[in-house]
Amino acid sequence: MDFAFTDEQNLIRETYREFCQKELNPEYVRWMDENCDYPPDDLLEKFAALGTMGATIPEQYGGSGLSMVDNCIIYEEIGTASVAASMGVGISTTFGAKPILEMGTEAQKQKHLPRIVEGKEKWALALTEPAGGTDILGAIRTTAEKKGDRYVINGQKLWISGAHKADYLTTVVITDKNVERKNGLSVLIVDAKTPGITIRPVKKLGVHAFGVNEIFFDDVEVPVENLLGKENKGWYQLLTTLNPERISTSLLSLGIAKSAFEYALNYAKERMAFGKTIGSFQILQHYLADIAIETENARNLIYKCAWLYDAGQRYDVEVSMAKIVACRASELAARYGMEIMGGFGFAMEYDMQRHFRDYKQMMFSPISDEMAKNYIAQSFGLPKSY
Ligand SMILES: Cc1cc2nc3c(=O)[nH]c(=O)nc-3n(C[C@H](O)[C@H](O)[C@H](O)COP(=O)(O)OP(=O)(O)OC[C@H]3O[C@@H](n4cnc5c(N)ncnc54)[C@H](O)[C@@H]3O)c2cc1C
Repeated sequence: MDFAFTDEQNLIRETYREFCQKELNPEYVRWMDENCDYPPDDLLEKFAALGTMGATIPEQYGGSGLSMVDNCIIYEEIGTASVAASMGVGISTTFGAKPILEMGTEAQKQKHLPRIVEGKEKWALALTEPAGGTDILGAIRTTAEKKGDRYVINGQKLWISGAHKADYLTTVVITDKNVERKNGLSVLIVDAKTPGITIRPVKKLGVHAFGVNEIFFDDVEVPVENLLGKENKGWYQLLTTLNPERISTSLLSLGIAKSAFEYALNYAKERMAFGKTIGSFQILQHYLADIAIETENARNLIYKCAWLYDAGQRYDVEVSMAKIVACRASELAARYGMEIMGGFGFAMEYDMQRHFRDYKQMMFSPISDEMAKNYIAQSFGLPKSY
């Protein structure tokens, strides 16, 4: 068993750490949170030039073909600097490139992958609907009816991250109403500018620099060649895409935990009370120790998932655990971070309030902690509780 990174992996980490210190410094990240609903194009162009969007995409499509462990190193650094930037940089790979690689035709791969690598195409995943996200099979209403060489989509999606800037929407639709729902879903590549699509922003508490939206589909025509994978097999195909997404979400929570920890630690070393730094009080030391324990725990589990992924082994249960452990670490870091900073934690000009708002998003998206626990419990052979 070897926990050490290779020289090449250490180089990746150093490269991204330095890049993020320069391009995602704390002032810039604060500015993004206050002024942006998506990371600015010039920032994304710099990440594309560094090869970030193509990190895990095979070399034949212009990517670097890196491993999931390598990818984790990259996104640990970006997520620690800015969770919103991390989402903006990663979304097109996670929701565009990955499904295309898993289910796409060679023509779809040739058309889209090189452009995603170059940062020229932005993607979003349109799965969740107003009637629910956890029970998506029960809630989905959006249909795509085949008419000649077109699918005609009607319906509504809710909570779609980044859709307002997306060029393409990986859209999950009902293509057969007459069978059990999981056997009647398909995935379509939808050009976000197609007539009949209306995208409206939804205001939210945290991660301001990466907005969410509702989407209305009103007789939206999509060519049949935009079917991704097999018709009516979309549900099963999507599951292979959503597991790696849980590694990505865990890394976002890890980034928040690490960033909040550093911020609180620096504050505790400088703030004075009763003639001492507040970091000399044992209870605050314990707060920081507790954050560090949970964060290290999360980090180890996330990298184990990445290692299992690279080894071609199952990691579905571990990644559900990692998602929860990382969420808990970020929650603890943000909550104790606020305690450590006293009144200043509550001030908008300090970063802790951002972590306190941001961590919450990861608790229920893409899967809620409750549902992740259901999945873990079922893996013990216990009956489905719902
Ligand atoms: C900021 C944000 C960004 C998002 N980005 C995207 C995106 O890009 N694309 C996309 O498709 N979706 C996205 N989502 C949707 C997200 O995946 C859903 O919010 C999530 O699946 C939960 O669904 P819900 O909000 O409808 O809650 P519900 O499904 O209504 O659940 C409400 C509560 O009930 C609990 N619950 C439900 N069923 C059970 C059960 N069987 N056992 C125990 N507890 C249960 C849940 O855990 C939760 O606590 C996003 C959501 C948000 C808020």
